[in-house]
Amino acid sequence: MMLVGTTQSLSAAMTEDATNKGGDDAFAYTDISFADIQMLRYKVEGFEQLSLREKTFIYYLQEAAIMGRDILFDQNGCYNLRIRRMLETVYTSYAGDRSTEEFKNFTTYLRRVWFSSGIHHHYGCEKFVPGFSEEWLRGVLKELDYREPGMQENSSWESLMPVIFDPAVMPMRVNQRDGDDLVRTSAANYYGPDVTQAEAEQFYAERKATGDPRPVMNGMNSRLIRNEFGLLEERVWRVGGLYGTAIERIVEQLEQARHYACTPEQEVVIDRLIEFYRTGDLRTFDNYSIHWLRDTESRVDFVNGFTESYGDPLGMKASWESIVNFRDIEATKRTQKLSENAQWFEDHSPVDSRFKKEECRGISAKVVTAAMLGGDLYPSTAIGINLPNSDWVRREYGSKSVTIGNLTHAYAQASHGSGMDREFVIDDATRTLIRQYGDICDDLHTDIHECLGHGSGKLLPGTDPDSLRSYGSTIEEARADLFGLYYLADPKLLELGLVPDKDAYCAQYYTYMMNGLLTQLVRITPGNTIEEAHMRNRALIARWVLEKATEEAAQGSKKVPAVELVKKKGKTYVRVNDYAALRTLFGRLLSEVQRIKSEGDYAAARALVENYGVQVDETVHREILQRYEQLHLSPYKGFINPVYKAERNADGEIIDVKLDYTESYDAQMLRYSRDYSTLPLMNY
Ligand code: ZN
Repeated sequence: MMLVGTTQSLSAAMTEDATNKGGDDAFAYTDISFADIQMLRYKVEGFEQLSLREKTFIYYLQEAAIMGRDILFDQNGCYNLRIRRMLETVYTSYAGDRSTEEFKNFTTYLRRVWFSSGIHHHYGCEKFVPGFSEEWLRGVLKELDYREPGMQENSSWESLMPVIFDPAVMPMRVNQRDGDDLVRTSAANYYGPDVTQAEAEQFYAERKATGDPRPVMNGMNSRLIRNEFGLLEERVWRVGGLYGTAIERIVEQLEQARHYACTPEQEVVIDRLIEFYRTGDLRTFDNYSIHWLRDTESRVDFVNGFTESYGDPLGMKASWESIVNFRDIEATKRTQKLSENAQWFEDHSPVDSRFKKEECRGISAKVVTAAMLGGDLYPSTAIGINLPNSDWVRREYGSKSVTIGNLTHAYAQASHGSGMDREFVIDDATRTLIRQYGDICDDLHTDIHECLGHGSGKLLPGTDPDSLRSYGSTIEEARADLFGLYYLADPKLLELGLVPDKDAYCAQYYTYMMNGLLTQLVRITPGNTIEEAHMRNRALIARWVLEKATEEAAQGSKKVPAVELVKKKGKTYVRVNDYAALRTLFGRLLSEVQRIKSEGDYAAARALVENYGVQVDETVHREILQRYEQLHLSPYKGFINPVYKAERNADGEIIDVKLDYTESYDAQMLRYSRDYSTLPLMNY
């Protein structure tokens, strides 16, 4: 599971005065903006101080992190690689006037395709509307006499025109609309074009080994297609299988990296991963996960593989991603305090004792410095990761939880002084509170979400971990967020020295409610509903709590509602009247969400998500967009990677690795496409 940067970027945006934490203001954190995106850079603080062995290890791992880029493009839609190649050819070969509106809009479109690894929005999932005409593109392609490499007919690019320009073709990457055939109406390439949701669900229901206490994550690493005999069949992603050419290149880099592993345990981790990439065997994957989990000593660590299932409407198939990182030794002391006390937090949580873990084990938590981002973590990325995702591995071995300090820091640096607080926070007192405690509480909330929240609780015996189906991701994120919200206000944090003041949590409570009710709507296009799991979770929590607070006041059990929406000069604000009462409500919802998860109560999950997490109030939405527009900010952010340059001696051995932060966004994307094109344009 991952925690994406929404809360972080928006509430960090609250803090007006640039608190120059790192003393590194010379570093340019912000880069170009286009469409609704701002590009940032992150600094790999501490890389120079690593040993040559560690640097060399990172060098090979970061190569492996780029090698899978094409896989994600293809997973996100079967035409994405062809479209990317075509657009890049136009971009690099176009001989006409580059200052025209048409060409500028074309450039924006290409940058968006790069950013999303495909033609759909990375967050909202809707297809991009090109700002240039079909006639213009056709004209340019004819002039260039463009032929698709490896494709049969000369004018095969014809078939891409409706994919780009016809709004009715592949409108959504992941469609979550209740009642639709989610598989057929989603453009994501995890199922063959004629496979229905009912068929896919039946296929995997039949393969579910009932009674197996250690079930593999069936379907995680394959596309489900209909073969020539009309039967459903998995095309497994492995060496010699689907995506085999890319996976071979990844394995080559992992084999190089293996020589420089930090510990013997880590060598085993890499061996198992390579074995999994070769065989596609899901037992091997679980085995790899366990070794990865156990390896807590290695300073350098990485994720490389099929990991998160947010891109599959059925929440099963995993997109390819990679992150290379190393432990931030100082900051890790913070998360260690939390994980050392994991049992205390589990015991004192407001959930029913039947759903609690008797013994919390193996929650290892650390703060890391990201060194490289790839696949589904690039350029848009997570600020926290908690893996593995297998329920039984988590139950028996725990999970490894990571918060990514240098990315959080870059977000905060980029958004100080953005004006968000002046526009959306209700008054000066609240602004002061947020300025004082916003960043600290954001970090802590992420830490608790990742290293306690996801790891807490248990399923009742016999509960199928997939019973919440398409609502599973949202419910899981809500569970982790609520755990964090509930405990942020606990005196235990003061006792552990993690917060400077007993009221610090109020900053997070305010920004969380404001984000869930109002400001996160800036990410939604008018007319659309909320689709992404983390956004649904935030809306769900904030709106449920608002409703219950309103009810309490109406019934007279509270004089004023704990939280309410108020109008001031025609503008809507969140007003919190009673922070302690807000905590009680978070606790109540946590208890209910944990019950839903533990019992696998699909109907309740569906009701909660559909009633609170999906719909958008048009009037409020319009108002928020108008206010936001005047600030001239980009609602989404992503990162340009540094360039790693290996210096070698005459024998070809690496003698040093240097970092370069100067590569532009366009240059980086074009270089990746040129040097790391690991797949054919179409993959069957
Ligand atoms: Zn999460």
